[in-house]
Amino acid sequence: MKEDTDIDKAISQHIEMESFFSGGTSLRSDKVEQPIDSAKELELIAAEVRACRKCDLGESRTNAVPGQGKANAKIVFVGEAPGADEDAQGLAFVGRAGQLLTKIIEAMDVNRTDVFICNILKCRPPGNRDPKPDEIISCLPYLQRQLELIEPEIIVALGAHAAKTLLNTNSTIGQLRGRFHDYYTSEEAEPINLMPTYHPAYLLRNYSQDNRKKVWDDMQKVMKELGLPIKK
Ligand code: URA
Repeated sequence: MKEDTDIDKAISQHIEMESFFSGGTSLRSDKVEQPIDSAKELELIAAEVRACRKCDLGESRTNAVPGQGKANAKIVFVGEAPGADEDAQGLAFVGRAGQLLTKIIEAMDVNRTDVFICNILKCRPPGNRDPKPDEIISCLPYLQRQLELIEPEIIVALGAHAAKTLLNTNSTIGQLRGRFHDYYTSEEAEPINLMPTYHPAYLLRNYSQDNRKKVWDDMQKVMKELGLPIKK
């Protein structure tokens, strides 16, 4: 995506310039590749997100919500956008839907602190309305860069907005959920397994045995893929 390229280009130009003025070696032809410190890079992205004014949500938000969790997480959960609680605290999935997400993660025998949790949009749309296409286009490069750094084994897309955006499709969440799809961080990269499932907020509104079973079936497929023990 062009914006992605522009941001990456701007960042690498900035790094080269910093390095040049501080007597660094990055302009030397015999430079040694430094390992990327993902936690540090994720913090830099979070700082950019907190300062972001690329769309109108930058004016209406209380706090931006970059996402939080382990830099080397095997699973990344991606939701739609922060709600009121998330906007107040600057943290993803801390309200009612977040509490249900915690239960789902713990039922998988995984600690919430061992995964990474974030959203397609980093700022709350007023009144929790749906994300607008121009907001998604402005915000998506942040998530793409986070996923490229974390390189998880599995991405769980929570709900239609996350699944449709990441897979660039118009299919419904009902059609997409229940099986793995390929997500590419770049043209050269190996695909990452992406499992779409229902959003915890949808589950709270439609708390039927059938819907809960579908989400649990999806999470069991994730557990199997990661080699985690499956509980019956
Ligand atoms: N819903 C989301 O999609 N994300 C959050 O962080 C909270 C609720």
